[in-house]
Amino acid sequence: MKYIPVIGLEIHAELLTKSKVFCGCQNEFGGGANERVCPRCSGMPGTLPILNQSVVAQAVRAGFALNCDINEYSAFDRKNYFYPDLPKAYQITQFFHPICTNGYIELKDTKIRINRIHIEEDAGKLVHDEYEGISMADYNRCGVPLIEIVTEPDFRTIEEVQSFVSDIALRLKYAGVCDAKLEQGSLRVDVNISLMPYGSDVFGTRAEIKNLNSIKAIGRAIAYEIERQSEILDQGGKVVQETRRFNDNHGDTKALRSKEEAHDYRYFPEPDIPPVFLSRETISEIQKTMPKMPGERMQEYTEKFGLPQEDAELIIADRAFSDFYNAAAASCPEYREIANLMLGALNRCLNESGKTVEQLQFTPAELAELAQLSADGIISKNTARDILVILFTEGGKPRQIAEKNNWIMQNDTDWIEKIVDEVLAQNAGCVSDYKNGNQKVFGFLMGQVIRAVGKSGNPKLCKDLMMKKLEE
Ligand code: ADP
Ligand code: MG
Ligand code: ZN
Repeated sequence: MKYIPVIGLEIHAELLTKSKVFCGCQNEFGGGANERVCPRCSGMPGTLPILNQSVVAQAVRAGFALNCDINEYSAFDRKNYFYPDLPKAYQITQFFHPICTNGYIELKDTKIRINRIHIEEDAGKLVHDEYEGISMADYNRCGVPLIEIVTEPDFRTIEEVQSFVSDIALRLKYAGVCDAKLEQGSLRVDVNISLMPYGSDVFGTRAEIKNLNSIKAIGRAIAYEIERQSEILDQGGKVVQETRRFNDNHGDTKALRSKEEAHDYRYFPEPDIPPVFLSRETISEIQKTMPKMPGERMQEYTEKFGLPQEDAELIIADRAFSDFYNAAAASCPEYREIANLMLGALNRCLNESGKTVEQLQFTPAELAELAQLSADGIISKNTARDILVILFTEGGKPRQIAEKNNWIMQNDTDWIEKIVDEVLAQNAGCVSDYKNGNQKVFGFLMGQVIRAVGKSGNPKLCKDLMMKKLEE
């Protein structure tokens, strides 16, 4: 390829506040059309917006999650345009003085700069009924609080864009400000892309692609756009600055509106909302409540806890799961054992029941106790898994469960030796097979012994003793 792609992102994230940004309507998904609207968010003349403080706090949290400077002064502006989903005919946003600026995210080989994060309100939705030939307006989404994250045009590859979006999504979830579901539209990514010839450092004209609702769609849309723009440039043509829509069924992009017909938004300061002043103290109070971000946890998990990269990733992919792991690891140094129990038996229980980590009826300390019993050889690994299932379904104390069921492993050599002798005597044929070089019968004999000793027989001891007897 003769061209280098230059890509910048604009990402909208819906904030997880209880109410909307400028009124008391509930901020929720679903429900009947226009059930969550009031005079304020439906843009009735004469109503006044009142800024929701938790929107500001969440925007600050997002700023910390993305390594931004948090501005003590920020303010709102009007972006004027007419569209039926925007009954006021202007959107309240932050244009001149955004709340956060100058962030960055480090990817594997490169650093992506974040120009700004600003607060704005969402617009409503139009529902097109092709059968009836009409369009209807649903204003439930009007006034849903958003942050918009704008990056510098620092991406050069599809992979960089994809890993950035996954990373941002996880960080916003950790910060507790957005559930970051691309498929459901709570995180919406617009990709700006242009091409420049190799060796050049002058950016080309960009197209903006909207309607990308999965990581995969982002990759396909960029690949298509690189092809399309390359062809235009190869033929000596010019890329038009325009907004394009990605069609997931066709895998292509189509022009939506071009910059020539673009509106002048005539931004001006919003006169109805006072500027936001945040004291240094308020900002640092918020900072104190930030959890460790996924990248930091990754380092801790692999370096301090000695977990394999893949295990660490699986745990970190869910904040509550990772918090539970951390709490267990804080009370027991058997880090691998805890991870194995959580990624194995616990995950299976969660998947089968559809429950979440928040609904568990045992504590991290109890899981830690279980891991310790297993690591110390007091119960076998299989027993540990069985006890975890009991903790999951009924709760209880690991040691008590083990004792009550007679699952504490016995290191009583005489007892096990007697059972081994019995098994060998009952299977004389197998024993002579083994002595004649058929190693395979060992597994069968072991199985017989394990069945006879039950969960309280230490499998390692059984194996050692049987080996000894067979070699005699
Ligand atoms: P505008 O105000 O016209 O929308 P911005 O400067 O805000 O322009 O940029 C919007 C987005 O486009 C940002 O994510 C930015 O990184 C990206 N961008 C800007 N110039 C280019 C370019 N030449 N090629 C690709 N992306 C670009
Ligand atoms: Mg812009
Ligand atoms: Zn309202």
